[in-house]
Amino acid sequence: MSTNPPKTTRARVFCVANQKGGVGKTTTTVNLAAGLAAVGQRVLVVDLDPQGNATMGSGIDKRRLTASIYDVLLETATIASARVRSERGGYDVLGANRELAGAEVELVGLERRDRRLRAALEAVAPEYDFILVDCPPSLSLLTLNGLVSAHGVIVPMQCEYFALEGLSDLVNTIRQVHANLNPDLQLIGLLRVMFDPRITLQQQVSDQLKAHFGDKVFNAVIPRNVRLAEAPSHGMPGVVFDPASRGAQSFMEFAREMVARVDSLR
Ligand code: ADP
Ligand code: MG
Repeated sequence: MSTNPPKTTRARVFCVANQKGGVGKTTTTVNLAAGLAAVGQRVLVVDLDPQGNATMGSGIDKRRLTASIYDVLLETATIASARVRSERGGYDVLGANRELAGAEVELVGLERRDRRLRAALEAVAPEYDFILVDCPPSLSLLTLNGLVSAHGVIVPMQCEYFALEGLSDLVNTIRQVHANLNPDLQLIGLLRVMFDPRITLQQQVSDQLKAHFGDKVFNAVIPRNVRLAEAPSHGMPGVVFDPASRGAQSFMEFAREMVARVDSLR
């Protein structure tokens, strides 16, 4: 072991959210997790999407989970008992599968229905530096559980024509959760993903984003890169599957940027 003093910090919790599907939330979550792990951070990924893509993309079979985020939300299991290790990714995973789709309805009638995840994370927060929550493509009760638990929101987005429009709904939701449910919550940043600088429109939207959101736009930019898309079928994040690829290197840069941002927040 190193001679560093023991860490006494508690995890910073980040939701990776965008109510649109297919914009790169899961790719961002698992690659950021693996990137953070590669630079020595202790990471837990929480899969909050019934599709279970973050679970599978971390090399964990969602059909064979003995307990999942579903049990944690319904308080029939703790995170300590339900989490599993992504050996390849170097981080822990609280997995999800289709069962989670029913949780939405089951939670509606229960107490503290929007604070279940927050309460469960409290118990494991001292064991991690980062907890990353991969949100479903909606502003639902599941996403609300994520936002109520988090210090910050990371929004992956493609620089396309309608991107800014969708963003205002998300920014409003963040504002309302901040005002009513979780005063810690901040928009940490917008991450440009699947970026192709040769496309003029993408450059223009990227410039608009910087004009509107200033330093809330991360410096790291994730290019469109086929290695990132191939990695999930091998059960590992792109950062691990092909570390030399441009996509992997951009996510490593993003991981280092996140570590620096968090250090400046503490
Ligand atoms: P979401 O979680 O928002 O639905 P995903 O992360 O699953 O989005 O990404 C949607 C699709 O795009 C997936 O097939 C994924 O492999 C692919 N993809 C995501 N990011 C990139 C990228 N930077 N380059 C190429 N393909 C990507
Ligand atoms: Mg996803």
